[in-house]
Amino acid sequence: MSDFDLVVLGGGSGGLAGAFRAAGHGARVAILEPAELGGTCVNVGCVPKKAMWLAGDIAHKLALARELGFDLPETPPALDWPAFIAFRQRYIGNIHASYRKRLDAAGIAVLPTRGRLAGAGVIECSDGVRIRAPRILLATGGRPVRPAIPGAELGIDSDGFFNLTAAPRRVAIVGGGYIAVELAGVLQALGSKVELFVRGRRLLRGFDADVAAQLMEDYRQQGIHAHFDSTVQSLHRKDGGIAVRGGDARDSDTADAGPFDSVIFATGRRPNSDGIGLEEAGVELDARGHVVVDAFQRTSVDGVHAVGDLTDRVALTPVAIAAARRLMDRLFGGRAEARLDCDNIATVVFSHPPLGTVGLTEEAARAAHGDAVSVHRAGFRPMLHALADSPQRSLFKLVCVDRKVVGIHLLGEGVDEILQGFAVALKRGITLDDLHDTVAIHPTSAEELVLVQ
Ligand code: FAD
Ligand code: NDP
Repeated sequence: MSDFDLVVLGGGSGGLAGAFRAAGHGARVAILEPAELGGTCVNVGCVPKKAMWLAGDIAHKLALARELGFDLPETPPALDWPAFIAFRQRYIGNIHASYRKRLDAAGIAVLPTRGRLAGAGVIECSDGVRIRAPRILLATGGRPVRPAIPGAELGIDSDGFFNLTAAPRRVAIVGGGYIAVELAGVLQALGSKVELFVRGRRLLRGFDADVAAQLMEDYRQQGIHAHFDSTVQSLHRKDGGIAVRGGDARDSDTADAGPFDSVIFATGRRPNSDGIGLEEAGVELDARGHVVVDAFQRTSVDGVHAVGDLTDRVALTPVAIAAARRLMDRLFGGRAEARLDCDNIATVVFSHPPLGTVGLTEEAARAAHGDAVSVHRAGFRPMLHALADSPQRSLFKLVCVDRKVVGIHLLGEGVDEILQGFAVALKRGITLDDLHDTVAIHPTSAEELVLVQ
């Protein structure tokens, strides 16, 4: 006997999307979420991050405005963090309320509890109540991890960043991926002095090397300092702050600068796959704890499916949502072949300026296609920065194979909004000639993409 047609573990991006889509197809759905609805993205991810990014963007624009003749003080006006956070959290509160309303309207049962898999078709809630459904969707997401080094507890992670109520005067960020790069840009823009500690030789491993290098140059111009090839060995308290000890066993601080007021670990995330009965139920996990799924989001146990950061797919909100919707179309909507196509997923790093990418990097294209690869670049100063004589530069780069566009890598003002349309075009198989056949919109940054030679 089943209580529901579907039970969803986790009310984040993937879980909510799956629940709504299944209910839309007429399924009886329950969703378990012990914390706030919306998961990482809404509460400690995309949404509050983008709010902070917008604040940083305003700070940059204020500085440019002053250069261009607006009557603003020499020291840029500081952000009143508590006031801004109140706006940010009000926005997030509205999202929670909207989810609750939509869940009620869709007739979805919301259980504010943790769940664990107690066998195929059975979920046990924290209070011991068991509910049954022939289909289970695991969407428990992930959490930040810190390296196991002495003093790691002195730092914070991205969750802790969202609890800050002021810009730390001097901040160290450990890591060189999405979160490190995004938080570095925001904090520097809002008045912190930021140093990045990156264990590799560059920012954003896996992204196109040229755009990542241009971003580092833009960050350097903004005053962000990066220590590359730098493995942090320990943190310790010093002179009322926190000192970072690197591979050379010396404290990175100097007599002038003193220790850091805050250290942020942005050293990756781990899936929430432990302690929820997965191994006992026979759900296969990979070496890093991700639930192994096939192209149809099936786990190794019949009737148990998984989406989002819990799996080893790209850890992005729209990926979790798209996978969940297609899965429910297949399970309850009569679309037997529905599944997510994971090729050419576009993504934006919300740095200052933003960096957007879709398709193959030059390196990957050359490894796969050798001499058939051609690369087309446009490096320029966006008009606002040229007007204000600011050094920030944009770099747009197309990677083609026999003139077919296989990679688009953009750094610069507005690329977060520009990329989406070009991602559609790349997915539809456009060529460089198609771009050249398109008349430009002038004067914009985007026009560089159809004019690039
Ligand atoms: P989550 O959204 O994490 O949801 C999982 C939910 O499961 C949580 O609410 C949790 O409480 C719940 N849960 C856990 N265990 C249980 C249990 N046993 N029973 C019931 N419920 C449980 N992606 C983007 O696309 N764009 C961005 O700009 C972006 N920015 C980000 C910024 C930061 C700082 C971070 C950390 C992430 C960002 N991401 C971004 C990634 C994005 O947030 C995730 O990919 C997305 O939230 C994954 O969705 P999910 O449903 O898999 O998991
Ligand atoms: P990333 O995988 O992007 O970056 C992790 C960084 O930490 C890398 O530079 C990695 O180095 C480094 N690192 C890992 N372990 C250690 C260690 N022990 N010591 C020192 N450095 C270490 O993860 P994030 O945490 O930044 O973000 C998690 C995911 O969330 C992203 O991959 C992305 O999918 C998603 N996200 C998306 C955003 C967006 O869409 N705008 C924004 C934020 C997050 P190395 O490269 O050498 O492995």
